[in-house]
Amino acid sequence: MYPSKFDYHRPSSVQEAVQILSANPEAKVLAGGHSLVPVMKLRLATPTALVDIGRIEELQGIGRANGSLRIGACVTYHEIANSDVVREAAPLLAEAAGQIGDRQVRYRGTIGGNLSHADPASDLPAAALALDATLHVSGPNGSRSVGASDFFVDLMMTALQLDEILTAVEIPAAQAGSGSAYVKFEHPASGYALCGAAAVVTRTADGSCASASLCFNGVSATAVDAAAVASSLVGSDLSDAAIESAVNENLSIPDPTGDMFASAAYRQELAKTIGAQALCTARDRA
Ligand SMILES: Cc1cc2nc3c(=O)[nH]c(=O)nc-3n(C[C@H](O)[C@H](O)[C@H](O)COP(=O)(O)OP(=O)(O)OC[C@H]3O[C@@H](n4cnc5c(N)ncnc54)[C@H](O)[C@@H]3O)c2cc1C
Repeated sequence: MYPSKFDYHRPSSVQEAVQILSANPEAKVLAGGHSLVPVMKLRLATPTALVDIGRIEELQGIGRANGSLRIGACVTYHEIANSDVVREAAPLLAEAAGQIGDRQVRYRGTIGGNLSHADPASDLPAAALALDATLHVSGPNGSRSVGASDFFVDLMMTALQLDEILTAVEIPAAQAGSGSAYVKFEHPASGYALCGAAAVVTRTADGSCASASLCFNGVSATAVDAAAVASSLVGSDLSDAAIESAVNENLSIPDPTGDMFASAAYRQELAKTIGAQALCTARDRA
């Protein structure tokens, strides 16, 4: 299938890109194109203009300053997975990015595209939630920052307005004594997550749990923050038994997805198994 006709713009700044979007409500941002182009070919999306942000310098780059990691929206999964800076400051993000699709997808797909598209089966939304990321956004009225917990609104729906661009993702650098893990049970054909669990655990000097975070992709319309599991672990000895009972007693997925690949009940159970695995691995790495 061929997409319907569209104009092509290649702005050189965020400001210029926002101006084009503001002037044309039917326009869409093009980043890596690995989600947008397929839906255009199927005519599920028929934008009259594409605003290609791939060559905007200010959307590139990975940097670390003042205890935070900043990743430009157009940084690819390949760059994230292979960056020493990301591996050190946010190893969970590097691990999740390294599990996305195949090599071609990882070379083209971007962190900004992944989070903006907000596909429930994508790998990065749960990592962004678990890492308490802040998403920086620019629009016609200037810039604003949105916490990951407010960014994912509903199925493929985010807090972004039509004329706004996600410009960067900021993540607090990993604390001493913390460990993390991303565990994914993937669909064997597409590689998308039937269930993906992102866990972060911080231990005190005596080894008990100081803080924890457990978030999921693939099990509901948006990424899920299993806050009740995380808070029930605080103060525990993080033994296998403590993790298992925290997950079994406190994990409840709101409106779990049931589809041709897996029923809602199956996904609920899968989330318990994968969630416990992610927490145990995060503990071992802390
Ligand atoms: C074969 C295949 C396998 C895949 N497997 C996986 C997988 O296992 N896990 C996974 O997570 N994903 C997977 N994907 C999806 C892939 O990760 C996409 O790259 C991603 O969903 C979108 O990122 P993109 O940069 O390609 O964005 P695009 O496709 O260019 O854009 C996607 C959407 O986001 C909007 N957008 C993009 N960037 C911005 C921005 N900065 N600000 C505002 N809006 C923006 C666009 O307008 C569009 O609506 C797969 C894709 C393919 C083709």
